[in-house]
Amino acid sequence: MVRFERVSKRYPGGRDALSGVNFELGRGEFAFLTGHSGAGKSTLLKLMMLMDRPSRGKVFVDGQDLASLRPGQVPFHRRKIGVVFQNHQLLFDRTVFDNVALPLQIAGFSPAEAARRVRAALDSVGLLGKEARTPIELSGGEQQRVGIARAVVNKPALLLADEPTGNLDPELSAEIMDLFVRFQQVGVTVLIATHDIALIEQMGHRRLILDHGQLVAGGNAVEDDIYG
Ligand code: ADP
Ligand code: ADP
Repeated sequence: MVRFERVSKRYPGGRDALSGVNFELGRGEFAFLTGHSGAGKSTLLKLMMLMDRPSRGKVFVDGQDLASLRPGQVPFHRRKIGVVFQNHQLLFDRTVFDNVALPLQIAGFSPAEAARRVRAALDSVGLLGKEARTPIELSGGEQQRVGIARAVVNKPALLLADEPTGNLDPELSAEIMDLFVRFQQVGVTVLIATHDIALIEQMGHRRLILDHGQLVAGGNAVEDDIYG
């Protein structure tokens, strides 16, 4: 589902934020992405979303070399990816329904089809019945569930999360992780950037570790054989 081939990224005037990164994520795989602050986690996620471009190397998503996409294809690429942020990035003056429906409106779904999908997404995170609330009326854990519902409402093949449990206590964090596992169980590829080592160890999934832009663990041995 995801393949990085010798990917490096250097921001203007900086050191390499990523350096020679090789890895593959299979379809339906679940992995964590860890590393110190500034290790390159957000940069790696951004390259997959085409929010930025590598300085060297190739990024493939769903078999497609992202460098080969024409500008008109970029929105279709982004629709394959759901993204969850630490701070939810919800609109606090809109209802839960409107927040989750946003990606569907952008994608041009009919109101009836959008409503059906929004309910399905809210059901998948246990928030059916809260459509008319505004985020301010919800707990932190519920707000993060709204963020996840919005990320999955387009039925993405790939789900990325950047510190999705950063503001939550351990119990709520475990509940949010259970949701990600359930999406993996229905075939979604999941990659979660997090500092929460306790949670990672408790869950025992594959762990990619970045250190100063280099993937120091969790990459694929096959890649090293080919390119090493
Ligand atoms: P992480 O998500 O692991 O904290 P980032 O990917 O945000 O790491 O950052 C990796 C490195 O790249 C850091 O040194 C950071 O300061 C730098 N960096 C990230 N984004 C930019 C940018 N837009 N411009 C310049 N430097 C950046
Ligand atoms: P995180 O720890 O999740 O990477 P940061 O606070 O490091 O978040 O970065 C927040 C935003 O600022 C990101 O979009 C990142 O790309 C950008 N950024 C990080 N470092 C720099 C930098 N040195 N110069 C410009 N932008 C940066």
